[in-house]
Amino acid sequence: MKNLDVLISGSSVAGPALAYWLHRHGFNPTIVERAPALRDGGYAVDFRGEAHLSVLRAMGVLDAVEAARTGTGSMSYVNSAGKVQAKMPADLFAGDVEILRGDLARILYDATEPYTEYLFGDSVTSLTEDADGVAVTFEQGAPRRFDLVIGADGLHSNTRRLAFGPEERFVKHLGVHCAIFTTANHLGLDHTGHAYRTAGKLVAMYSARHNTEAKAVFYFASPALDLDRREVTRQQAVLAEQFAGTGWESDRLLRDMRYAPDFYFDSVAQVRMDSWSRGRVALVGDAAYCPSSLSGMGSGLALVGAYVLAGELAAAGGDHRVAFGRYEDALREYAEGCRKMGDGVAWLMVPGSRFMAGLLNRYYKVMPYLPGKNMAAKIARKTAENIVLRDYGARGALPTGQSPDRLGH
Ligand SMILES: Cc1cc2nc3c(=O)[nH]c(=O)nc-3n(C[C@H](O)[C@H](O)[C@H](O)COP(=O)(O)OP(=O)(O)OC[C@H]3O[C@@H](n4cnc5c(N)ncnc54)[C@H](O)[C@@H]3O)c2cc1C
Repeated sequence: MKNLDVLISGSSVAGPALAYWLHRHGFNPTIVERAPALRDGGYAVDFRGEAHLSVLRAMGVLDAVEAARTGTGSMSYVNSAGKVQAKMPADLFAGDVEILRGDLARILYDATEPYTEYLFGDSVTSLTEDADGVAVTFEQGAPRRFDLVIGADGLHSNTRRLAFGPEERFVKHLGVHCAIFTTANHLGLDHTGHAYRTAGKLVAMYSARHNTEAKAVFYFASPALDLDRREVTRQQAVLAEQFAGTGWESDRLLRDMRYAPDFYFDSVAQVRMDSWSRGRVALVGDAAYCPSSLSGMGSGLALVGAYVLAGELAAAGGDHRVAFGRYEDALREYAEGCRKMGDGVAWLMVPGSRFMAGLLNRYYKVMPYLPGKNMAAKIARKTAENIVLRDYGARGALPTGQSPDRLGH
């Protein structure tokens, strides 16, 4: 085996999942994460189908993920007075198991921390590749050398910018912005969510942490905004301008937003790249193939991507020139399918006119009685399962009762 020392940038889903599998195959992972500490909480993400579940099971974390599941049931569309107009089934939103992203990141961190060097509060500033490895400089820490560098640093990947070029070349804005934050569950929602939609806007609330709190969610149609991701005050001003007087709970939520501990605001976007690697640098998860937050596929895809990338590196004896190409061959079609799940959803989420919004609301009302009522959930499951995972023969102890043999069968 060669190229054993691997630097991973980003500690959310793809990063620690990759560290887990690299370690099982005999590599030495180091993770650098820009945040000063692991970020807890956040919005809900989901896993669906056997490909996702079998990787979680083989990692020995499925029980922990299930124990932390949100347990959210159906979501309802309401009118401006808060009266329920239509109910959407749980499996459309929550898959087989839904969990807050931060809780998932914590579980993956706990599973990898004993054998992974974690560098919090730092970021890579330059990557210089030569025949034997990559010289890496950091914002805070001293320069170091690694055999390989993997970017698992999300939609706005720093690694991608350093190794492949500016973000505008790869990130496609889908015409919608999104904001999410934690707030009080003042509606007393019980493992459920309510959403109110009007032309070009959607505001929703769903209960979290067994109803002790709620997540406020805003989506609005808009061209790409030139906002710095760290300028929270400006982002909040934009949101307030968009939603003031929109109706339902929007004004109250806008007031509460000022006190939110975890305000998140971003463009809904996809990442499209012709190649996911360059020399000794490769990308995994949202950094390489973000299907958009609206696809409901990002976490599962990041998890599967990490499994395949580590497996192909091991299968090639650590030879990145072979492994990175095989990683793409094995994953490209799957990632494309996940991306398609994000196409067109923005339009459904926030239709441009009041007429279309009304039409959609009426459609959702009758949907439970239509023959194709489960179609969207079925398509999502089929997409999530559209990969045969190779058993890469990972070594190392598995938790009792867990078997990686299911992978590839
Ligand atoms: C609002 C919303 C709702 C979503 N809903 C779902 C859903 O229902 N189902 C689903 O499957 N997916 C969902 N997703 C998508 C899912 O969160 C992502 O696809 C998934 O988290 C991808 O994981 P990742 O590890 O590749 O990237 P990320 O989770 O984005 O993590 C990137 C990490 O890199 C770190 N980082 C960033 N820059 C640097 C740097 N310079 N140096 C070091 N570290 C850095 C970040 O702090 C972060 O920890 C949703 C996403 C959003 C935004």
